[in-house]
Amino acid sequence: MSHAPLSGRILPGTLVNGQPATLGVMGGGQLGRMFVHAAQRMGYFTAVLDPDAASPAGLVSHHHIQTAYLDEQGLAQLMQRCAAITTEFENVPAPALRTLGAHRLVAPSADAVAIAQDRAQEKAHFVRCGVPVAPHAVIETAAQLAAVPDALLPGILKTSRLGYDGKGQLRVKTRAELAAAWDELKHVPCVLEKMLPLAAECSVIVARGADGQMVNLPVQRNLHRDGILAVTEVFDGNVPAELAAQAIAATKSVAEGLQYVGVLCVEFFVLQDHTLVVNEMAPRPHNSGHYSIDACDQSQFDLQVRTLAGLHLVQPRQHSPSIMLNLLGDIWLDFNDVPPWDKVLALPGTHLHLYGKLKASKGRKMGHLTLTGPSVAEVRATALAAAKILGIAPF
Ligand code: ATP
Ligand code: MG
Repeated sequence: MSHAPLSGRILPGTLVNGQPATLGVMGGGQLGRMFVHAAQRMGYFTAVLDPDAASPAGLVSHHHIQTAYLDEQGLAQLMQRCAAITTEFENVPAPALRTLGAHRLVAPSADAVAIAQDRAQEKAHFVRCGVPVAPHAVIETAAQLAAVPDALLPGILKTSRLGYDGKGQLRVKTRAELAAAWDELKHVPCVLEKMLPLAAECSVIVARGADGQMVNLPVQRNLHRDGILAVTEVFDGNVPAELAAQAIAATKSVAEGLQYVGVLCVEFFVLQDHTLVVNEMAPRPHNSGHYSIDACDQSQFDLQVRTLAGLHLVQPRQHSPSIMLNLLGDIWLDFNDVPPWDKVLALPGTHLHLYGKLKASKGRKMGHLTLTGPSVAEVRATALAAAKILGIAPF
């Protein structure tokens, strides 16, 4: 196997060990698809490893390796193709990233991803960085379950691993409900979090290079429905300036503490007393950053390409106020598989992104719609009009 450097700059449109400079991604979902789009636009070749023949990123990549994430031959093929490799969803097994990292530049590192994959370790990391977390208890044994203080109820029992979009989470009011919930979750390691009085939610995306240079996107204000992101609003004043500054500083210290390389998103709760509490992090681009494709001069995926290829990071600039609406499968079901895109696209400042998923189901992320415009008032008006056409509840 040819050897590419484990660090350094991979310039687009060049040959690396006799092959066109190729960037790889573990996982073929929509985040991988948008990474592939960004990398290809800059002139890189791309390779995706995902077992699904119809994966959104596999469909648009130069190369699609269709094996399981831990398949040795698949990983070897990916290394053979790529000068550097990133990941697009946090449940890619850390051991696979470790294998790749022994031979190729991998960003983020297996160690950083492993921490983000485990809620208990993730919370311990936030505490180490001096960032406030929700009161919580780790529950891995019956003794730990029995020792949970009453002050944590009502709360949310969350599996430590493999949760997303509110899956693997149960809300509990009493000790009896807590015990039943842990039974229902088959006694896997969990974290019980106190239910907090939320005024709002927000998130921050940073990109950090191997040289420690760091840039950030503006603070995103997020509305979740049924545990799934529904709406992201990004414009000046979406959250009070002081909270925004705190959230950005906290995110940078979380990235710094991990010696992180790549794109990192940290999600926060804004409590009713206007204090900030960190919720969780994603070691990759995030749904709340999709607006950056259309509203910023560099998107979160451009930043991912730059960190992976060792290119300079330049502070991104948002050029338009924006609102992003997630397009869940529910819309397809409501409209008998044919949502009225013609009506939506007749509105000014609409950017439709569909992920190429052929089968809609309830809660499945099928695409997103970003609205941009010259003023917050105009963007809000078109976003609400688009939501109305699509049957999305007003916000
Ligand atoms: P993601 O898709 O973001 O990875 P997830 O499945 O990891 O989601 P969380 O982010 O832990 O889930 O929770 C989903 C949503 O549930 C939060 O965005 C928030 O609206 C609500 N929530 C979670 N924890 C709490 C809490 N401790 N108090 C109040 N609301 C909460
Ligand atoms: Mg979340």
